Amino acid sequence: MSSTLYVDLSRIAHNLGVISDQVGQNIKKMAVVKDDAYGHGAVQVARHLEDSVDYFCVAKLAEAIELRESGIKKPILVFEIPPLGSEHLYQEHDITASISDLSVFERLEDGTLCHLHFDTGMFRLGMLPEQAESAREKMKEFDKLNYTGIYTHFANSDDPGHERVLRQLEVFKSIRSNFPDHLITHACNSGGLFFYGDEGTYFDAVRFGVSLFGYAPGETEISELEPAVEWVSHLVQVKKLKKGDAVGYGSRWTAPEDGWLGTIPVGYADGVFRTLSGKIQVEIAGQLYQQVGTISMDYMTVYLGKNCFEQGEPVVILRNGELSAKEWARIAGTIPYEITTTIHPKVKREYGS
Ligand SMILES: *Cc1c(COP(=O)(O)O)cnc(C)c1O
Repeated sequence: MSSTLYVDLSRIAHNLGVISDQVGQNIKKMAVVKDDAYGHGAVQVARHLEDSVDYFCVAKLAEAIELRESGIKKPILVFEIPPLGSEHLYQEHDITASISDLSVFERLEDGTLCHLHFDTGMFRLGMLPEQAESAREKMKEFDKLNYTGIYTHFANSDDPGHERVLRQLEVFKSIRSNFPDHLITHACNSGGLFFYGDEGTYFDAVRFGVSLFGYAPGETEISELEPAVEWVSHLVQVKKLKKGDAVGYGSRWTAPEDGWLGTIPVGYADGVFRTLSGKIQVEIAGQLYQQVGTISMDYMTVYLGKNCFEQGEPVVILRNGELSAKEWARIAGTIPYEITTTIHPKVKREYGS
């Protein structure tokens, strides 16, 4: 095994507690476990949280079916537009469809659970505000569908005090008032629920993903959250370097003096972006060391200086603090979402709590 991703489920449960405290007991909790729970493992995470949440949300129908086949019983909302030809699977697996397009009404089978999705300014998926009237007519026409919810999605809620969030909220409220009362109403993602609670954004339920896994959605810190992963590998080879030896593809790093170099069997094919080359650190025996040289497909190297370690010495690549996905994201110019979802499925996940 080249490396292992340890996932601490108790930290994910802790983050759910932080979210719960933030929104209060009366608001339904919809845990977003799309894309294998942002790389953490959807089935394991869902099993751990099932008793504490009201809904799960996933991006694709196939992900919802996987959860059902793993024994998950809670309602599951799928964000994608139902794939053509797969409409019957929603009913078959008791999965809730999103109606993000007027054409979806006529495709779903009678009895299918569904949430209406309105696009109030994200401009990705969802029916536009001016289609609300048509949607109401479709609801009358297709009155055998089981309408259970209505939602929208914010484009700027990771940024506190953003005027566009308030504008989307206004648009959503005016749409909402024309639909039946019984529909579960939801708008907030992590940013919405942490930064816009005072604006009346919670409605009946909140959908959270990144905060569940311990990261703030944008630049503004949320100090109570705890990342839940630790990615551990080991040294597969340790060798002596002489001052001036140039390491790796392109010989981009040169030993400043005689010392030791360690090779770690993890590279960009595992999810350590090549753009991080020479810019991250790893931890060995409680001390931080600089990764040096170009990160290659299956390997990267670390400068150990005067310290020589045995082959097999454990190496921590990613964990809370200086080695966090947030730090990688800062260096790579991206967001923690992309770091954790890019850790390749071949990296074995192990669960503790
Ligand atoms: C991904 C997603 C969420 C969760 O967003 P976070 O920022 O991770 O909390 C909520 N709603 C929809 C529609 C999404 O696609």
